[in-house]
Amino acid sequence: MKKCFIILFALFLAAGCSRERDPLDILRNGQWIDLTWSFDEQSVYWPTNIHFTHDTVFAGINDKGYYYSSFKFSAEEHGGTHFDAPVHFAQEGNTVDQVPLQQLTGEGIVVDVTAKAASDRDYQITAGDLQDWENQYSRIPDGAIILLRTGFGKFYPDCETYTGTTLAGTEGVAHLHFPGLHPDAAQWLVTNRKIKAVGLDTPSIDYGQSSDFMTHRTLYAAGLTAYENLAGLEQLPPEGFWIMALPMKIKGGSGAPLRIVAFVP
Ligand SMILES: [Zn+2]
Repeated sequence: MKKCFIILFALFLAAGCSRERDPLDILRNGQWIDLTWSFDEQSVYWPTNIHFTHDTVFAGINDKGYYYSSFKFSAEEHGGTHFDAPVHFAQEGNTVDQVPLQQLTGEGIVVDVTAKAASDRDYQITAGDLQDWENQYSRIPDGAIILLRTGFGKFYPDCETYTGTTLAGTEGVAHLHFPGLHPDAAQWLVTNRKIKAVGLDTPSIDYGQSSDFMTHRTLYAAGLTAYENLAGLEQLPPEGFWIMALPMKIKGGSGAPLRIVAFVP
């Protein structure tokens, strides 16, 4: 009788475990979070770039008597919520269409430096910040996508507060002040961890005052990618979620508008 009970109990546990592992159940019960800003004329672009345009081709009741609308848009690759392919700063790197799907999806973590960036617009996230995260949670997993939360997302799309300037052209570039990832931290990641991408809630993975873009160059030389101008990072937990980052598949592109979402089980 006792043996029978143990077998029944084991079967009960096994059934419970297999239910928990059902991936469709996880998908049914989880939550999708949009990390993408909508594209419009206010979308933040680099001071030397042309802004996003969206014009009406036709919208209204047509000559056949039913409603119809169609628009056209134009955009530079690197503005609004967007993707950087390795070829953006590495001549032999993958173009947008060449980045494998495996690299566009993965386990996400959020490193929150909001407090430091709030008191220093030019803050550069250090390897120490990444190690502090590891000490608090766990070692950055192989294949991770690291999202850096600076808190600057709350300013988007106000150029003055988000980028530090409303000036355009090279004069505007000289006045950019926003946080980024320090080149030494990028090098630490490339050398010591096996990650797929880095994303953040500012216009660039290098801080605003960078002129040599060494964080871009370091990450992309190693085949990594980046996401810039992310939205909604405050909605994510520090770990335990999944990222899908799907850029417009521009053949030969160095970057592209990006629709990025997180799945929190
Ligand atoms: Zn870019």
